[in-house]
Amino acid sequence: MGKKVCIVGSGNWGSAISKIIGQNCASDDAFHDKVHMYVYEEMIEGQKLTEIINTQHENVKYLPGHKLPANVVAVPDLVQAAADADMFIFVVPHQFIRRLCSTLKGKIKPDAIGISLIKGMDHTEAGLQLISDVIREILQMDVSVLMGANIASEVANGDFCETTIGSRNLQNGQLFKRLLQAPSFRICVVEDANTVEICGALKNIVACGAGFVSALGYGDNTRAAVIRLGLMEMVKFAKAFFPNSPPQMATFLESCGVADLVTTCYGGRNKRVSEAYAKSDKTIEELEAEMLNGQKLQGPQTAEEVYKVLQTLKIQDSEYPLFVSVYNIFYNKHDVKSFIECLQNHPEHM
Ligand code: NAD
Ligand code: 13P
Ligand code: CA
Repeated sequence: MGKKVCIVGSGNWGSAISKIIGQNCASDDAFHDKVHMYVYEEMIEGQKLTEIINTQHENVKYLPGHKLPANVVAVPDLVQAAADADMFIFVVPHQFIRRLCSTLKGKIKPDAIGISLIKGMDHTEAGLQLISDVIREILQMDVSVLMGANIASEVANGDFCETTIGSRNLQNGQLFKRLLQAPSFRICVVEDANTVEICGALKNIVACGAGFVSALGYGDNTRAAVIRLGLMEMVKFAKAFFPNSPPQMATFLESCGVADLVTTCYGGRNKRVSEAYAKSDKTIEELEAEMLNGQKLQGPQTAEEVYKVLQTLKIQDSEYPLFVSVYNIFYNKHDVKSFIECLQNHPEHM
């Protein structure tokens, strides 16, 4: 029979990864052939999205043009989708995870394990929390993370890429590797899971900065500087906020680190929409609706969450000028040109 797998989420990335999961579950006895995918129900031209996925085997809204394996079954009821699952893949925009976990609380197998593919952070009055910690806290399960240079459409095309699994429990990390690896999707498993997850969350803020410099007409040298200075702030943040599990520098050299910064700062949604934001008078919500057809950005919200925690802890804005400048451009209407001043006066050069 094998372990039952439930994918919680069916957006652009959830649908892309379901292609690999469906194929691996069908071919490997360690996993039950049938995979449940929780789909946030919506109507597409009078038809339910779940019905379209289960008959046409295509997520026509979030990953059009790709056939999903027939053993991936869309389920609109989260509790039903999760019933009997041994392994969970969490892959929703980060703003929805808390509510979904609360719905699942007390309704899943006690020994189930999970992996989060969600790039973002959560901020409450208690402070900043990793998304995997939110899941751990609510569902009391072991949670690994998977982050890497993985633009969903390219993964769905089967273009070669790498990714990183971070796992506190290496046995579980290896089991998720068996579930998720494919010839064109190669996985390294590391123990430094917090750093893997912090990289995935913070690189989206840096990508917004890459969009700003493109909008201002700057070229690849400037983008490279944004990537490097962004990386330096990511390292500093990881050291400051997780003193009990100091980041290993080698983790930044995995796919989740420098490689993801490169791909997102060139082709990611956060970069593209931030560039359009800097060139127009439209709000992020308007551009999201116009450019992404229901897909969600994570960068602006993550910049806000990071900014709030810096304020709570009375950390000077000048300690993380790139992160703070991205926040100010989105939330305080600062001129995009101020982003260049922030780079020119970066503490790395002082
Ligand atoms: P997406 O951007 O396509 O988001 C849309 C999804 O959100 C849809 O499935 C929609 O049904 C769902 N949704 C909308 N409102 C909802 C609600 N109220 N409750 C629950 N769900 C709701 O999603 P995605 O691209 O799959 O991204 C999920 C996570 O994966 C993000 O954290 C993202 O950073 C990360 N990620 C994305 C990519 C990528 O290239 N798309 C790559 C790597 C990681
Ligand atoms: P965007 O959300 O900016 O498209 O980034 C996708 C991603 O995380 C690629 O690794
Ligand atoms: Ca099987």
